[in-house]
Amino acid sequence: MTVYSGPVFEMAVNQFGVIADHLAIPADERDRLLMPKRAIVVSCPIHRDDGTIAVYEGYRVQHHLTLGPTKGGTRFASSVDLGEVAALAIWMSWKCALVGLPYGGAKGGIAVDPAAISKRELEALSRRYMQEMIPFVGPHTDVMAPDMGTNEQVMAWFMDTYSMYQGRTVTEIVTGKPVASGGTLGRREATGRGVAHLAKRVLKELAIDLNGATAVIQGFGNVGSYAALELHRFGLKIIAVSDHTGALYNKAGLDIPALMRHTAEHGSIKGFSSEMQYDPADIFTTACDVLVPAAMERAIDGPMAEKLQCRVLAEGANGPTTPEADLVLEKRQDEIFLIPDILCNSGGVVVSYFEWVQDLQQLFWEEEEVMRREYQILDRAFDQMVMRAKLDRIPHRTAAMAIGVEKVRAAKNTRGLFP
Ligand code: GLU
Repeated sequence: MTVYSGPVFEMAVNQFGVIADHLAIPADERDRLLMPKRAIVVSCPIHRDDGTIAVYEGYRVQHHLTLGPTKGGTRFASSVDLGEVAALAIWMSWKCALVGLPYGGAKGGIAVDPAAISKRELEALSRRYMQEMIPFVGPHTDVMAPDMGTNEQVMAWFMDTYSMYQGRTVTEIVTGKPVASGGTLGRREATGRGVAHLAKRVLKELAIDLNGATAVIQGFGNVGSYAALELHRFGLKIIAVSDHTGALYNKAGLDIPALMRHTAEHGSIKGFSSEMQYDPADIFTTACDVLVPAAMERAIDGPMAEKLQCRVLAEGANGPTTPEADLVLEKRQDEIFLIPDILCNSGGVVVSYFEWVQDLQQLFWEEEEVMRREYQILDRAFDQMVMRAKLDRIPHRTAAMAIGVEKVRAAKNTRGLFP
């Protein structure tokens, strides 16, 4: 029996099962590695603008505390539930371990559509959520960050709320803050840049010319937009983009800087162009060199995986590809090069780690240094994944996750079981 349920949690369990079988982890060791250490559920009451009181359910799951504090984003979305948050926390653990960060995974969220409440209500809810979490988080216990539906402003409110209760400024309690409030240069762009950097590496290995190569981006939030911008800078044509309001297509390549200005002003890609309208249902099946799913989990299922027409699948989102789709991709390994989520989007948490380190030391880096170190870590993890996949004759996802799980397992086994 477990309190965690739902399709996303099941997906994380299934994926772990594949890895545990591959690593021949004994049955009695598996739950210790997989099941989250703590789950916190809180009620967050706020005054609505009309004077009524509304209560929102908030969650935080801390997967393991073996390697240091837990680390991970906070998601504001109607679909958020405990099972989804737990799965995302588990994935954060494998991600942090794969790239060598001294963290366990965590994730949090509130079941709310942030677009459906006012800015004042959003601030009240963000502050109340952090206030409810104070007994369970800390710079050396659990460090939050942005995720879907949250941004730098929400992180600034989190940091301010925590700091007011401490009676001093504690910037190191969250990452992804505005640079003006102790954030680091390069964090906003970090995830998208990492996705584009790795996609570029693979294109070069496949001898595909960057100039004129094509990309399709599903999701135009923080990750998708900066991945698109960076790929655009590398010379790729971004031929299709989608978000929750629709999709755009232009064979000659979309003007990504203009589209980013539009979304900054209007909140979505809606209204950018009437001529370039595209059916969002066709986004994944559009022929392209690089496909970047950068929205929700489980977007690519088995039948969809059969229909993909990309050379590189660069997973910007967490968990965009189901285990059934993985089986299809395994058969298509020579056609589609997979850069799995825990590697592909890890640039975000890598630069969050840099932000935390800078805040703890009060010594701040130039953006070039942030980027150089980010790419160094991504390249090393990429090399390790590719080598492991070749050596063990396993798909990239299995290789990446195996490296992550192995590191957590080694830490747990060398520390032993207390008491
Ligand atoms: N939410 C992001 C992720 O899923 C970033 C987490 C962080 O920076 O701590 O990787």
